[in-house]
Amino acid sequence: MLEADRIADTLALDEPVGRVRMVSPGRAKALDAMGIRTVRDLVTHVPRRHLDLTNVQTAASCPLGQLCTVVGVVHKAQLKRPRPRLALVEITLVDATGTLMVTMFQQPWLMDKLEQGMRIAVSGKVEFNYGFKRMTNPFLEVLEPDQDAQGRVIAVHPATEKLSATMVRRLVGNALEACAGLLDPLPTALRTRYRLMSRMTALRCLHFAHDMDEVREAKRRLAYEEVLLLELALMTEGLKRTAGRRPCAHVVDGPALRALDAAVPFTLTAEQQKAREEILSRLAAPEAANHLLLGDVGTGKTVVAAYALAAAADTGGQAMLMAPTEVLARQHGKTLGPLLDAANVSWAVLTGSTPAAERDAIQAGLADGSLSVLVGTHALLEDDVVPKRLTLAVIDEQQRFGVDQRARLLDKGEAPDALYLTATPIPRSLALAVYGNLTLSYLKARPNRGAVRTTHLHRKADRGRAYDAAKEALKRGEQVYVVCPLIEEAPEKKDAKRSGGLQDNDVYAFDRVVIESDEDFAGADVSAATKQAAYLQSTVFADWDVALLHGRMKPAEKQEVMDRFARNESQVLVATTVIEVGVDVPNATVMIVEDADRFGLSQLHQLRGRVGRGALDAQVHLVAATKDAEALKRLSALERTDDGFELAEFDLSLRREGDILGNRQHGASALKLVNIVRDRNVIEAAHRDAEDLLARDPMLDQPEHRALAREMRLLFSSAADIQGG
Ligand code: ADP
Ligand code: MG
Repeated sequence: MLEADRIADTLALDEPVGRVRMVSPGRAKALDAMGIRTVRDLVTHVPRRHLDLTNVQTAASCPLGQLCTVVGVVHKAQLKRPRPRLALVEITLVDATGTLMVTMFQQPWLMDKLEQGMRIAVSGKVEFNYGFKRMTNPFLEVLEPDQDAQGRVIAVHPATEKLSATMVRRLVGNALEACAGLLDPLPTALRTRYRLMSRMTALRCLHFAHDMDEVREAKRRLAYEEVLLLELALMTEGLKRTAGRRPCAHVVDGPALRALDAAVPFTLTAEQQKAREEILSRLAAPEAANHLLLGDVGTGKTVVAAYALAAAADTGGQAMLMAPTEVLARQHGKTLGPLLDAANVSWAVLTGSTPAAERDAIQAGLADGSLSVLVGTHALLEDDVVPKRLTLAVIDEQQRFGVDQRARLLDKGEAPDALYLTATPIPRSLALAVYGNLTLSYLKARPNRGAVRTTHLHRKADRGRAYDAAKEALKRGEQVYVVCPLIEEAPEKKDAKRSGGLQDNDVYAFDRVVIESDEDFAGADVSAATKQAAYLQSTVFADWDVALLHGRMKPAEKQEVMDRFARNESQVLVATTVIEVGVDVPNATVMIVEDADRFGLSQLHQLRGRVGRGALDAQVHLVAATKDAEALKRLSALERTDDGFELAEFDLSLRREGDILGNRQHGASALKLVNIVRDRNVIEAAHRDAEDLLARDPMLDQPEHRALAREMRLLFSSAADIQGG
């Protein structure tokens, strides 16, 4: 093939899908509804599953109780309506060896599709009843007469009412023709190293394979390519921030840092020490650091960040630490202040409610360089907050800030080092896929302060046990949280397709509780915080003071309630998820979560981080309203492990990625073929390879990298959008 043809075929990938044979305007519209607009979209339309016809069983040989595929001829298809709202199609399928009965529920339209004598493949579990082998609701595919010529594995694509899977497959085949000669963007060196198929072969095998090995190899190749391109996009985007600017190489063994070290009232854990060294070595390097410190609530990220602040002061630079709420900013002031004082580092806290005079003084100190560390909220982003020489920006709970907010803070310096802190337990593979341009440090264990936290799952009927445990704690003088998913009773209904209660991306959306729209749930058994508080006060906790906290209260009211609880003037705090952040009461040792199944795992984990913060043992009692075995199994993971990262991996293995971080803007959601948990090796490899490639060819403009660079730009034209929000 001529080079020019290859280029034409490569370009064809990004042409409108209408150029593909048989894609009429009507079909183009139907494809559009599935998000397929270009030839590329069509050839990368990943099959939902594959029907393996190389491994078909006969009606006689198919084993009971196992998944298998049987090919046969429709002898009879009958529509039955045993009950008014029940339609079932019963198919008698025959092959050379015998008969298989197939029952399809609620798909009466199949009657139009099936004809006597038609060859079909069914794939499902075989049972034996009423004297026949039977499959109920198997996957069913009508085979075309020329099926065998197409290969022995049938790809089943996502389809719609307007466009059957069969038609989609045919169109995919035509799309492959339209770009048959496309160039492979992967450098040969990488292809040979991992023994990967060429891109075209992989695309062909994805849709028209001869056996399942080909499908696996195709996916392996395409998955690798996906991650590599994503990593490259994230990394090159990361480089852009400081292109042409002079980053700061921090002094990391100066007097402030040493004094701070001496002032820290405890010994850092091994993980904290490691994280500190990792961070300091990034700060010392003459490149702009982009470092993410991941650690569960209570793992002690703040003190690690303090060392970075001290390094900025030692360097004669300035540092700003931005937190998402006023409460958090003030808390940081309270804990960091004494350490910074001991290190002789000047500091201040700036929030929206800082009095004007103090604000003026802070701005002046910042501008003339006499103020080294400024802790604050979004107030730091104001235009009149102008540091003289910002060399470090620390962003706490970074996922709660938007991309542009983070960028605005960083823009206050020439090329400041960036240190991000997050309590979202993002497993390393996901972190690489989402924040490929960041270096990572993990804090997995909480500093051992002798306290133990246990979690117990109860069915609703047994919730008395949770209350008993709470009363025991109250009698010991300790305090209790009761968390409810709702404020008032009327549930706000949302997208019916969402399942599993709260999604993890709602972790930071306080009070924005999303309810499954299942009918039973609209009922009265929802624990509304308001009602629950009144109820508990008058019954179970009559001997104590029960307070109520929820997100619809005014900030001042909230603060008042939290302060009273902190002073132990109220002993039981009934709250919605507002308590996730900002409440720190070491004397609170028991947490009861009502309707725990309405929350995502990581949100529950986040919630339970509120207890066990002091020296006292803590208990978390999850009361599940559901009897659903899957949901209970999911919740029981919280009983099993207290490690947020382990939980996050478990959660990811149950659901698709994107759930931990929200599925809006993350690079990970661009990954069609990669599963974050299963493919962690692929992600690690691609991450390393992307780093190597960019180290050797930062602009990717060497001839063997040009196709790669082009693909990367095409796929992730706006990497800022995928930088995780
Ligand atoms: P995070 O921000 O990661 O949730 P913090 O930085 O607020 O956690 O730390 C939680 C608590 O643990 C604080 O009271 C802090 O003083 C304490 N802490 C941190 N590191 C240690 C340590 N190594 N030993 C004992 N206590 C520690
Ligand atoms: Mg913190």
